[in-house]
Amino acid sequence: MTTSAEPGTVDINRYDPERRRWLAEAVAKVRADARRSSDTHLLRVPLPALPGVDLYLKDESTHPTGSLKHRLARSLFLHALCSGWVRPDRPVIEASSGSTAVSEAYFARLIGVPFIAVMARGTSREKVRLIEFHGGTCHFVDSANAVYDVAARLARESGGHYMDQFTYAERATDWRGNNNIAESIFDQMDQERFPDPAWVVATAGTGGTSATIARYIRYTGRATGLCVADPDNSAFFPGWRDDDAQVTTEICSRIEGIGRQRVEPSFVASAIDRMIHVPDAAAIAAVHVLEEVIGRKAGASTGTGLWAAFHIMSEMAREGREGSVVGLICDPGDRYIDKYYSPEWLAAQHIDIAPYRARLRDFLTTGELPA
Ligand SMILES: *Cc1c(COP(=O)(O)O)cnc(C)c1O
Repeated sequence: MTTSAEPGTVDINRYDPERRRWLAEAVAKVRADARRSSDTHLLRVPLPALPGVDLYLKDESTHPTGSLKHRLARSLFLHALCSGWVRPDRPVIEASSGSTAVSEAYFARLIGVPFIAVMARGTSREKVRLIEFHGGTCHFVDSANAVYDVAARLARESGGHYMDQFTYAERATDWRGNNNIAESIFDQMDQERFPDPAWVVATAGTGGTSATIARYIRYTGRATGLCVADPDNSAFFPGWRDDDAQVTTEICSRIEGIGRQRVEPSFVASAIDRMIHVPDAAAIAAVHVLEEVIGRKAGASTGTGLWAAFHIMSEMAREGREGSVVGLICDPGDRYIDKYYSPEWLAAQHIDIAPYRARLRDFLTTGELPA
């Protein structure tokens, strides 16, 4: 720092060439990692009972860290690095329900800074294992609501940076393009018979994915609608319905990755065209049925969106409309063998998926999702 003796001019110069070199290297490492990555597949889901409506799923489970949070973590790191928030040898700290922390641990190790995830006890064991596998540390709190304050405090005490996905997700991603999830989906739809989907169905954890897709749709002048499917115990659905960002809920969502007890700052309600509340039992039944149709397991957030997509497709068929619907595979099912795929866990949660499976079986044979 230098201050000038010349009267009237005060010069505070914090330019630090060494830190700038470190920063340039860190950014280069993250960008090179992106260059080595390839795009994710857009799968077509065969549903012969609906000859006029095509379903596609953007498979985000194939990223190196296994979920759509890989994109978010990359964006958050680049945004934080270029904003001057991440410093060498200081930890990056995050409040997370798991998937973001897995991806952030990966990027923290890539640039050589420590990583601490603040999570509610009860996060799936497989996610904890993955965070530690990527070199991160887990800090558990008893209530999911405590994660934000504890993460901020740990950052203050350590001189580290609280990444705060729930605030920055919607702005860290370049919604105009740059191979974001929306640009990739619409590119991949280009040769299909209905290239502009009638609806894209997303789910919301931070709200970042739905904000990016909704903004991109408007930016490119498309007529596509953006629907968000929301699980039980989430503040997003009532908050959106009643236009009230202050809504909170009593208990934590059982669908990992989505459904929050407060309307997160990154949830851009005004960009969302439609919301569908999906019972947890319906979402879990839907991932079981997905495995029968495409031979793959997925997390229950995927099932939440899938149930809503089926609801919309059934409505389109009933009204004699043709077109396409795009949903997302958010993360793989092998993270949840002891949860959504476990009869014991379902019984302990008093979740009965049988009636929803019956309705889905009807849907697969008739194209009608009975009410
Ligand atoms: C985060 C997450 C979502 C929702 O994505 P956002 O962009 O945060 O709204 C859906 N599914 C899973 C598994 C997630 O981890």
